[in-house]
This record gives sequence, C-alpha cells and structure tokens, in this order.
Amino acid sequence: MSGPAAARRPATADVADRAATGFTEAYGEPPAGRWAAPGRANLIGEHTDYNDGFVLPFALPLRTVAAAAPQPGEAWTVWSELSGETISFGADQVTGSGRVTGWGAYVAGVVWALREAGHRVPGARLAIASDVPLGAGLSSSAALEAAVLAALVDLGGLDLPTERWPRLAQRAENRYVGAPTGIMDQSAVVRCWDGHALFLDCRDESVEHVPFDLDAAGLAVLVVDSRAPHRHADGEYAARRTSCERAAGLLGVTALRDVPADGLAGALARLDEEETRRRVRHVVTENQRVLDTVALLRSGRVREIGPLLTASHASMRDDFEITVPEVDTAVEAALAAGALGARMTGGGFGGCVLALVDAERATPVATAVTAAYAARGFTAPGHVTVLPGPGAGRIPTEEES
Ligand code: ADP
Ligand code: MG
Repeated sequence: MSGPAAARRPATADVADRAATGFTEAYGEPPAGRWAAPGRANLIGEHTDYNDGFVLPFALPLRTVAAAAPQPGEAWTVWSELSGETISFGADQVTGSGRVTGWGAYVAGVVWALREAGHRVPGARLAIASDVPLGAGLSSSAALEAAVLAALVDLGGLDLPTERWPRLAQRAENRYVGAPTGIMDQSAVVRCWDGHALFLDCRDESVEHVPFDLDAAGLAVLVVDSRAPHRHADGEYAARRTSCERAAGLLGVTALRDVPADGLAGALARLDEEETRRRVRHVVTENQRVLDTVALLRSGRVREIGPLLTASHASMRDDFEITVPEVDTAVEAALAAGALGARMTGGGFGGCVLALVDAERATPVATAVTAAYAARGFTAPGHVTVLPGPGAGRIPTEEES
C-alpha cells in the first residue's frame, strides 16, 4: 500500500527475502524454509457470516512470510520486521495460565491450539515480514496465524491436512488472543486458490473455488485503504449482530440465512420496527447478491458483477448503516471515474473499499479517489491494485521452482 502504512523496508525487497534476511540477522544462520500466507478481501457478502450465510473472499497478492528453523526443546523465538522486536516463550505460556500478550499472542496462540489438538509442536525460531497492512480489514492477523501454522506443520512433520487449518487458527485467535472472529478470514487465507474466489457457506463451512480470473478479463481490483478512524466499530458490530439474532427469533428461523430472497416481503411484513426491517433486508438481499455474483463468475461473466458490488455498498450504507463518509466518498469517486462497481469490504466503520476496474483504469481511479478525499479534507487514502492470489503454503526454494 502506498502512504504511511507501507512496509518499513524498501518496497523493492520481496517480502520473502525480507523474512529470510531478518532471520539470518536475528539468529546468525539461514532459515530452513519460508512459508507464506496472504491477506484477503471479501469480494461480496458482508455481515452474512454470523447469519449462517454466504461470503466470497479472495486471497490478495500481499503476503505475510514466516522464515523458520527448528530449535531444541519447547521454546519459540519470534522476530517481526514490524517492530524489529524479538519475543520468546516456552511451554508455560502455552499450557497453563501464562499468556503471551501483544502481537506475539497470534504466534503463541497457534502453538497453543496445535498442542490442544494433540500435536507435538516443534520448538522453532521464526522471522516474520509482511506486506499486509495491519488493522485495515485485510486480515493481517489470519495471515500471520496461517504463515506460522504452515511453518510449524512442515517443520514438525505434523499430520494436519489443510482443511483443518482454518478452525485451528480461528481457535488461536478466539481463545488465545481473545478476538471474536468468524471462520471467513482463516478459511480464505488458507483455502483460496490463485485466480479464484472462495464461495464459503458459513453454515456448514463447505467451499467452492469459483473462477475469478481478472487478468484474463483485462480487469483488476483497486483496494483503497479508507484510513477512516474506527468509530465505535466494536459496539456497532455487536448491535448489528444482536439485531439480526432478534429478528431471526421473531421470524421463527434459526438464522436470517433461512429467509429466502423471494420470502423477504412476507418476512418484512411480520416485523414492526423499521430499523429491524432494514437490517433484515440487508442480510437477505446480500446473501442473494453473493449467489448472483457466484453464478456470473461460474459462467465467466466477471465484468457483469460490478452492479452487484455497488448494490451491496448501497445496502450497507442505507439499510445496515455501517459505512462512514470516507468509504462513501471513495466508492462514489471510484464509480464516477469509471469503476465497474465499488463497495466497502469488511465489518464497516472504516477499513477498505474495493473497486472493480479495467486494468488500465486503476491509476486514474485511484487518483480520482485521492482527489475526492483531498476536497473533503480527509486523511489521504492508501491504495494498491491486486489480482487474486494463492492461499497459504511453503515457498519453494530456488532449486525447486
Ligand atoms: P487485521 O486482521 O484486519 O489486519 P487485526 O486487528 O485482526 O486486524 O490484527 C492486527 C494485529 O495482528 C496487529 O495489531 C498485530 O498484533 C498482529 N499482526 C499482524 N501481522 C503482523 C506482523 N507481520 N507482525 C507482527 N504482528 C502482526
Ligand atoms: Mg484480523
């Protein structure tokens, strides 16, 4: 990303090389290998996850890389480029009451979750570098967990198929770090395929890899970091969740996922409060927009998803009321500059905007968004142009690739 959230080392240095160099500088010997996991963006399907609904994330080419090597005993040492800091922990902090805090908790949480699941986790030294901006809603936390998990599984020769990684990393984040997240982030960063989006049913966690070959269609996604200050995001998130659960109760369904789009009018007629009706309308129409997007992508009609993205944004703005002036400005400016569709992605009250653009329009659209921000006196946004990339795994050595 351009602007202040850019990586600390020169952008010309590849993130995998930075992790390896960091490892060698920190520990005086080269790593045994490097493991990467991407950030992710949700193409469409917002606030549908906790309603047992559908989401459609894709992996970003921005990655977190763990360079690692085994070390004897139950001891883990981790350096991160982010702070230049090295932290260490032993078995005490991943068994009993002891806890690692701060960013190291994401690493210790993975060790903890592996051990809880009965695996013998190898002691290890790790060095972390990342191109995923932190706290921008692109899931740097899941990228860190998955890169560390991939390293430890390989170093220890653990019998843990990748299908089981998302639950394990989610458990690390929920139970050890203490952050209540759904299953989307970890599923996306582990299970996404290059050139595809991941159609995830949050009720049964089944997935379908849907072709999302922007490059072949001459398209790209411009990711704009709104840099909006997170205003009461946690409280508002909890309020939306409660509202949806209450509405499902009133409608006599397990979750709002069970209200089909063609049953929406009937459902709304049974709800007294205007605000609740709008919340329900967002979730029900958003689930349908995910299904419609998937149908278009399955038949290779990528360009045509633009209006669905824009409709999703309008629904988040007007019915779910989770957007802020910065993201609305970015969406409007992107559309005015020729984006095929644009929407906020993530939980809301800030975070990032995605704009689907003809590849050669990415720069003019980004420039237009920056100008619109300046005109409104907002802090300048960050931006990066992306194509969907692969999920987590070991980076082949030069001889292997
Ligand atoms: P998001 O996942 O949207 O980026 P989160 O708040 O869920 O935001 O996670 C961000 C946190 O994850 C950071 O505050 C930090 O503790 C941790 N983190 C992510 N990437 C790194 C990294 N490369 N090095 C150290 N800590 C990281
Ligand atoms: Mg996160």
